[in-house]
Amino acid sequence: MKLKHWFRAVHPLILAACLSTMWNLRKKSLLRQVRLQNEDALTGGANERQFMIQARRFLENTERKNYAVIAFHVKEFGVINEMFGYPNGTKVLRGIQWVFTENLKKDELSAHVYADRFLLLLFCRNRSELNKRLRCICTDLKKTIEFYGIRYELSPAFGICECPADTVVDIQEWVNRAVIALKAETHLCRPPFVFYEDRMRIDKMTLKNMEDRLEPAMKNHEFVVYYQPKYSAESETLYGAEALVRWRTAPDTLVPPGEFIPVFEQDGKIEKLDRYIFRQVCRDLRHWMDDGKNVVPVSVNLSRVNLLNPSVAAEYRSEAATFGIPLNLLELEVTESAFAQDAGNLEKSMKRLNAAGFALAIDDFGSEYSSLKMLYDIPVQTMKLDRDFLNGLGFGQRGKEVISAVVGLARQLHLQVVAEGVETKEQLEFLKQVGCTAVQGYYFSKPIPESQYAALLSETQKKKESVSTV
Ligand code: C2E
Ligand code: MG
Ligand code: MG
Repeated sequence: MKLKHWFRAVHPLILAACLSTMWNLRKKSLLRQVRLQNEDALTGGANERQFMIQARRFLENTERKNYAVIAFHVKEFGVINEMFGYPNGTKVLRGIQWVFTENLKKDELSAHVYADRFLLLLFCRNRSELNKRLRCICTDLKKTIEFYGIRYELSPAFGICECPADTVVDIQEWVNRAVIALKAETHLCRPPFVFYEDRMRIDKMTLKNMEDRLEPAMKNHEFVVYYQPKYSAESETLYGAEALVRWRTAPDTLVPPGEFIPVFEQDGKIEKLDRYIFRQVCRDLRHWMDDGKNVVPVSVNLSRVNLLNPSVAAEYRSEAATFGIPLNLLELEVTESAFAQDAGNLEKSMKRLNAAGFALAIDDFGSEYSSLKMLYDIPVQTMKLDRDFLNGLGFGQRGKEVISAVVGLARQLHLQVVAEGVETKEQLEFLKQVGCTAVQGYYFSKPIPESQYAALLSETQKKKESVSTV
């Protein structure tokens, strides 16, 4: 009886305790669920979902200040994983999140999206103030990486979309714009902070348009090859030619390569275009030879994507064989900037091309990344001096000294030197004096259509014949 009374008295207490425990467990589990939904498992910071919810709240506040949404990534982050291992890669990502969090003010946000991609929402009174803050962030990132003992020069990139207080746009659209700016940064190798401009979106749409038009345009024979003659510096006689593509988008519109090559390079389609041009050059050489012309070697530009393809040497060789073109009539030009990344693999490809019988030229030497070591390492037969040596630098005493030294070194390495962009007699005379092999530029000829070049070949032949009969 006593027990019954006791139980009756205690029963509500037990019930309350049980309920409270259950409630606490439920609360904990709910909190855990919320945390899992909002927290990034890798870095422990906010994830994209949380960022979007909070950013939307901040940006929809009618009394808000000017903000900027920033898309961030580290260029070639994979290299860190490869060089220092995945655990260190993860450490770096956590470090980045930590630096961002440390730099946030009240009502600002940061989040890890995936891989090396992050988002930030920062106040932006004006661009210079924001740039200053981002520079501080870069310094902190550098220090953090050093602190971890990782000896690697981090290359951060920021795509920035300003969100003025008086403009109402959904957060997803602001983020899209920041990502577009980030991509523009990566593509154009611009400085690490790039502000979104409407032009970039237009560019993106034009790019898409162009990409879709490549194959129909090839079928339609809209890509035409122009030939720019090269002349021997000493004798001023025809030495060779460079094949340069143009896009005839309408009967009276000829688009220069600078406007479409970078687009096709970006999505890898340049490979198809390069092959198309190579085939066209082989076809033209065949016609000229069948016409009994004395042909001179033609150089064709080869993009980096194409060069990295291990089968390019065999494919180009078989293409030349189809038209019966001896390989000493073909040269391949690879632009120097191609070697900014993955130089080791490019070097292997160049060796394969050399072994297959193609002469190689390094194009635009001196424009960006050239190192003299490169000339030793890469198996090339010709160095094409970038036209900035003659025009961009100014053709003063200093410029002349640099050209003279570079040409001297190349000749010591037994390379042919072709100077691009020769526009005046004075430049030609100087290049002769320093020992340049050949020159290419408006002084002699602009790039010309095939029919004109074929006529030039005939004319050159006639001149030669008349000299030999005298
Ligand atoms: P590049 O291979 O360095 O070609 C030389 C460029 O310099 C040509 O421009 C030519 O017209 C220009 N040039 C030649 N002499 C002079 C001069 O005296 N003064 C000035 N101001 N310019 C001169 P273009 O034809 O617009 O070609 C630009 C670039 O497009 C080429 O530079 C090459 O990198 C690329 N390209 C052209 N055709 C092809 C192609 O079939 N495949 C690939 N991958 N790239 C190509
Ligand atoms: Mg070239
Ligand atoms: Mg060039």
